[in-house]
Amino acid sequence: MTKCPKCQKELEDGFSFCPACGSGITPAATPPESPVQPDADQVAEQLRILAEKEAEKERKKAERLQRLAEKKVEREQRTAERKALMAQRKQEKAQKLAQSKAERAQKPAQGIASDTAAGAAQKKPLSPTIVWALIILVIVVAMAATGTVSYFTVKHFWAFSSLVSSGQV
Ligand SMILES: [Zn+2]
Repeated sequence: MTKCPKCQKELEDGFSFCPACGSGITPAATPPESPVQPDADQVAEQLRILAEKEAEKERKKAERLQRLAEKKVEREQRTAERKALMAQRKQEKAQKLAQSKAERAQKPAQGIASDTAAGAAQKKPLSPTIVWALIILVIVVAMAATGTVSYFTVKHFWAFSSLVSSGQV
């Protein structure tokens, strides 16, 4: 309960003006609390709790930083591993490429070498006896085919070519 400061009428709490005289009511000021002298032990305890909280905060911060650092190291490690793997693959690829290149370079060289060998074999001159025998045979066959010679003439030529072949002519 409060009292109107003007007409002293008792009023319910919560009125902002007196319903009797209309005077404004200011809520009664709460009496100032008697200043409590803080106990030295209490202060020390509070300071200790505060310090503990601060230390806990610092510790958590340090843990967080450490975790971040660990993650960073892990990430860097993974990146390094990936790079190493890529480098290895690249090297393998380059090796394979070089190998296939070398094989390709070798094959034509081998081909040329065998061609040269075959050419050398072909260029080996035929013996004159065989050449003569071939020429005579061709002539005889041609004559026989065109009917310009008889069987006996052919026989005669055959005998001659045999003499030539055996090196008697
Ligand atoms: Zn009043």
